[in-house]
Amino acid sequence: AKDAGGNEVRFFEPAMKTTVTARATLDSELHEALKHNQFVLHYQPQVNGQGQVVGAEALIRWQHPVRGLLPPAGFIEVAEQTGLIVPIGLWALEEACRQLDRWSRDARYADLILSVNVSARQFRRHDFAEEVRNVLIRTGANPTRLKLELTESLLHDKVNETISKMKSLAAIGIQFSMDDFGTGFSSLSYMAQLPLNQLKIDKFFVHCIGINAKVELIIQTIIGMARNLDLEVVAEGVETGAQLAFLQTHGCNLCQGYLFGKPMTLPHFEAQFERRLAS
Ligand code: C2E
Ligand code: CA
Ligand code: CA
Ligand code: CA
Repeated sequence: AKDAGGNEVRFFEPAMKTTVTARATLDSELHEALKHNQFVLHYQPQVNGQGQVVGAEALIRWQHPVRGLLPPAGFIEVAEQTGLIVPIGLWALEEACRQLDRWSRDARYADLILSVNVSARQFRRHDFAEEVRNVLIRTGANPTRLKLELTESLLHDKVNETISKMKSLAAIGIQFSMDDFGTGFSSLSYMAQLPLNQLKIDKFFVHCIGINAKVELIIQTIIGMARNLDLEVVAEGVETGAQLAFLQTHGCNLCQGYLFGKPMTLPHFEAQFERRLAS
């Protein structure tokens, strides 16, 4: 590649993603993105056993001025490393709460639960609970319609702080979901102490349905355990009727995935939601 002259940089581009320079460039671009409001939320429906849309997950995208609409895979990790995930996550929470408040004035949407992803770094901040309460006050959103998705990595943190943060938010009606359940290293005894409402089965497991009998058993175990602990179960990544049938047969409460809809812009989400109500 040394003789490639002008092509040299392009040749090394994939590996550069991890270099300090590339990270610094992305970091400053992300700062700009926050300042110029280049993030958007997409909404993916969550459907119950009767086929009704009862909730949505808010998923962030970056409307990049040159590169177009970018999925979180390309920037969330760097934002985690640099700490920018904290203001970005706060933006996502506030945008979601603003939408919840708008929906609260339309009877058709008023009961929808909106799930928002919270990164470990964001949750770990000492003022996390206060920030969430401030967002609710600023936006007027009803806390009982908000669900925060946390990942198992939080379970490695200071137990008492985690529990007290979650409890103080649960006390005002906020719900919690354990995201990507089964992919981390959860201690079940610890998990039982947390005020959780929902377990979310990762799409990795769902995509094994019909392919891997052992993983199917794991899914059945997760659902059974959740039900014993009085937790709702939602499966993500549901793409086929066979996956849906398996999950419903074994008592999974909610499903989310391309079978029902990809993450969509707000107008698309609302159009699909209203079409479903009419049919
Ligand atoms: P996640 O929380 O596990 O979200 C589920 C991912 O699965 C989403 O990817 C969603 O588009 C995708 N998905 C949903 N249904 C299907 C399906 O049927 N098939 C397949 N193949 N994929 C499906 P997305 O939107 O690219 O988000 C990736 C990750 O980025 C999320 O994973 C989450 O960890 C993170 N993320 C997204 N928004 C935020 C945010 O506002 N804050 C934070 N901290 N993280 C976020
Ligand atoms: Ca999630
Ligand atoms: Ca309100
Ligand atoms: Ca996942």
